[in-house]
Amino acid sequence: MEKKYDSLTIFEFQEQFPDNDSCQNYLAEMKWPDGFKCEKCGHNRYCGGKLAHTRQCTKCKYQATPTSGTLFHKVKFPLLKAFYIVFYMGTSKKGIASTELSRKLGLRQKTCWLFQQKVMKAMASSGKYPLIGKVEVDETVVGQQEEGVVGRQNNRKKQVVLAIEKKGKGVGRMYARVINNAGSKQLKPFFRDHISTEATIKTDKWRGYMPLKKQYPNLLQIDSGKKGKNFPDLHRTIMMFKAWLRGIHHSVDNLQAYLDQYCYRFNRSQMKGAIFDNLLARMVEHNPCPYNIICMY
Ligand SMILES: [Zn+2]
Repeated sequence: MEKKYDSLTIFEFQEQFPDNDSCQNYLAEMKWPDGFKCEKCGHNRYCGGKLAHTRQCTKCKYQATPTSGTLFHKVKFPLLKAFYIVFYMGTSKKGIASTELSRKLGLRQKTCWLFQQKVMKAMASSGKYPLIGKVEVDETVVGQQEEGVVGRQNNRKKQVVLAIEKKGKGVGRMYARVINNAGSKQLKPFFRDHISTEATIKTDKWRGYMPLKKQYPNLLQIDSGKKGKNFPDLHRTIMMFKAWLRGIHHSVDNLQAYLDQYCYRFNRSQMKGAIFDNLLARMVEHNPCPYNIICMY
């Protein structure tokens, strides 16, 4: 039986955020915890701006709002609804489809989808907490094989490298990245960003891992066995990710953002209620991302 996912309830959320004002106040406190600092010139004095919640820099006259300079920048629909999207994305175990958000919030599906892309930006790994201890790495292919496409680049398939950190009898944390091929040039930056050089790493015998042994002295290459039987946790993790992706997103477009979202939630499954605050904090810390530059992988 699936374990109940214990997190902030919708009632607790509604109590904390009854209206747009409470969302603005929350962001203001998060953005200026030690007093005001102008985003444009760094000056630290302000007076009240023309609109509620705005702060005008007394030096350069820039009008800052709790949302300016964050991923909530210029959101065209009520902030409260944006908070609901962050809440659902952070707390539902399997994530939430844009069509469902659209129904729940009375927003257009495309509007929800676009804002979800921003939340996913906030979910991308900072690279500050590399995997350590017992780590296993493998590559896999995500997406369908197109029938009749022979000898041509199949755009519906993408290669992914994935690493897990073992914890007790299961998996503690994981990271994954879309790669063009499994050569060591593509694997190296993934290792650098996500795996500690002190980790004990197991991979299969693929030659792309060989040059990495220089920087990772504890990298051991073993036979993966029939259907990967020597890497059971790793293969179960891969299967679970693929099953999740099939249920929520029916293509490999923007795959990296979906990997980031999955890893973010997976790595924080113990955080419970705090995951929502963590995600809001990341939204505030992240630079704005205008809709026209939401990049597609
Ligand atoms: Zn200023």
